[in-house]
Amino acid sequence: MNISKIYEELLLLIDKNRMVLDAPMKEYTSFKAGGTADLLIIPKDRDELMKALDVVSRSGVEHLIMGNGSNLLVKDGGYRGVIIRMGEGFQDVTTEGSRITAGAGALLSTVAREACNASLAGFEFASGIPGTVGGGAYMNAGAYDGEMSMIIESAEVLSKDGSRIFRLSKDELELSYRHSIFQRTGDVLLNACFLLKEGDQEKISDRIKELTARRTEKQPLSYPSAGSFFKRPPNHFAGKLIQDAGLRGLSLGGAQVSELHSGFLINRGGATASDIVNLMEVIRSTVFENSGVLLEPEVRIVGEDLKR
Ligand SMILES: Cc1cc2nc3c(=O)[nH]c(=O)nc-3n(C[C@H](O)[C@H](O)[C@H](O)COP(=O)(O)OP(=O)(O)OC[C@H]3O[C@@H](n4cnc5c(N)ncnc54)[C@H](O)[C@@H]3O)c2cc1C
Repeated sequence: MNISKIYEELLLLIDKNRMVLDAPMKEYTSFKAGGTADLLIIPKDRDELMKALDVVSRSGVEHLIMGNGSNLLVKDGGYRGVIIRMGEGFQDVTTEGSRITAGAGALLSTVAREACNASLAGFEFASGIPGTVGGGAYMNAGAYDGEMSMIIESAEVLSKDGSRIFRLSKDELELSYRHSIFQRTGDVLLNACFLLKEGDQEKISDRIKELTARRTEKQPLSYPSAGSFFKRPPNHFAGKLIQDAGLRGLSLGGAQVSELHSGFLINRGGATASDIVNLMEVIRSTVFENSGVLLEPEVRIVGEDLKR
C-alpha cells in the first residue's frame, strides 16, 4: 500500500485536519531543520491512534511515534512513511496521593509544575527538559543527577500494531542510560505513572528556579537545537572532549558547535539536516583522533539523505 492509499483509508477514520501530507518536519522539531514526512498524523485520542496504527502496520509502511520533537532530526530527503505525533489528545495529568499519572503528550515542564503544586518532590530535574512524557520515557531522559528511571513506577503501553494495551512495571521498562524497552519494541507509551515524595512546596519551587537559572546560563537556549547532541561516554563528558579537540564554535553551513556549550549543536539560521549531520561526523572523527573516544549521537536521526 502506498501513502495515498493509506491516506484515503485513514480519511474514513480520522479528521482531515489532523493529517498532513508531506509534512515539513522542521516545523515540528526543535532543530527547525530537515525534510518532510510522507504523512504526519496527530490523533485526537486513543481510538484514533489505534486505528491509525492498525492501518499503517497492515500497509507495511514504516512508522515512527514522536512527542515534542526535541530529540529528533529528519534528514533532508525526508521520512518515507508515517509519523504519529502524540499531542493534545494525550496530555491528561492527574494526581492521587504521591502518584502522578501523565499522558504521553504531556510536557515534562507541565508535569513538574503539577508536582510542585501538589507539593510532590522528585520531578524537579525534568522541569527544563523540553520533551514529553513519552519522549522522556523512551530516552530515559535525565539531568542534574535525576532521570526518568528514578521516578517512573509503571507505564501503560500500546503495541506497535495498535492491537493491544498492557502495563509495564518500571523493571520491565528496561530503563538505563538514555535507553528504554521502546527502542527495541517500537511500542507506544500511552501514559506513565510517577511515584514522587511528599515535600515542601517552596523548596521544590526553589529547586526548579535554580535549575532553570543553570540551564539559562549554561545552554544556548536562544538557538534551535536538540540539547546535548551526543551521549555521555563512560568516564568522559562529550562537551569537554569536543572542546579539547578544538571544535568549540566550529561551523558547517548553518550548523555550529555552540560557543556556550560544546555539547550542543545549534542551528544558527537556515541549517539543513545535512549541515548538522556533516558537522556531527566531523566532530566524531576529530574527537576520536584526539582522544580515542567515539561519540554516539543521543539525537534520533531518521529519514533519507537528499537525492542528487
Ligand atoms: C534545549 C534542550 C535541552 C535538552 N535538555 C535535555 C536534558 O537535560 N536531558 C535529556 O535527557 N534530554 C534533553 N533534551 C533532549 C530532549 O528534550 C529529550 O530527549 C526528551 O525526552 C525528548 O522528548 P520529545 O517528546 O521531544 O521526544 P521526540 O524528540 O519527539 O522523540 C524522541 C524519541 O522518543 C520516541 N517517542 C516519543 N514519544 C513516544 C511515545 N509516546 N511512545 C514511544 N516512543 C516515543 C520517538 O520515537 C523518538 O525516537 C534537550 C533538548 C533541548 C532542545
